[in-house]
Amino acid sequence: MALGRCRNYQPMFKNSHPEDSAIYQARRRELVEELQQKGIQDPLVLAALRQVPRHLFFAPEFRQFAYRDEAFPILSGQTISQPYTVAYQSQLLLAKPGMKVLEIGSGSGYQAAVLEAMQLQVVSVEIIPALVALAAKTLKLLDSKVKVLQSDGSEGYLPEAPYDRILVTAGAPAVPSTLVSQLKPGGILVIPVGHGRNDQKMVRVYREADGIRHEVLGDFRFVPLTGKHGWKEEKG
Ligand code: SAH
Repeated sequence: MALGRCRNYQPMFKNSHPEDSAIYQARRRELVEELQQKGIQDPLVLAALRQVPRHLFFAPEFRQFAYRDEAFPILSGQTISQPYTVAYQSQLLLAKPGMKVLEIGSGSGYQAAVLEAMQLQVVSVEIIPALVALAAKTLKLLDSKVKVLQSDGSEGYLPEAPYDRILVTAGAPAVPSTLVSQLKPGGILVIPVGHGRNDQKMVRVYREADGIRHEVLGDFRFVPLTGKHGWKEEKG
């Protein structure tokens, strides 16, 4: 069993979930091999991706698409991120088991489940009520302990701050300073930032003792971050 190779790994989800058949498990292993070939190396991330049944975050009629390395539409014009993107962002966090992480943009809840399977303590906020309900429902099915809350994540989430890590899964116009202020010293924020609504650079922000350091990485395409420090709604 692949999980056995990752020492100290405590599965969060029942591998024997009734809707997680051997066929889905095999397709998931193949997807994870594909992601390894694309450069994902962190054993904690790879073990988590092998474990979380991504198809359960899809409506039953679309589950056949769950193990392609592609984004897919969910409710309210939003998307479940491409597996490579989930893996890449998760790897950028440089997370260690036990850390507290804030995810901004719960969407389907899949990324939150992956973070939990990485043994992180996860708070996930989502601005669209229907998606809060969807993510919470699927996560509950998996016996997850992730806290899913409705809130404007462009302002972070103060009641649970500070965080070791913050992960934003929607594209922001700039790095909101309020997010950096909710990081613990030594904390890391991963956020797609862009000049346009469609093309963003992944940015990793380190809160260090002597200041803030930014690292600008590759190109990505995310749905827009809305809310106070996000993109303004288009009028008319
Ligand atoms: N992480 C998700 C992908 C989500 S897509 C998954 O694994 O499925 C981005 C999500 O960010 C959308 O659901 C969108 O509604 C949400 N979002 C956009 N702006 C937000 C904001 N200001 N606060 C919280 N969530 C926001």
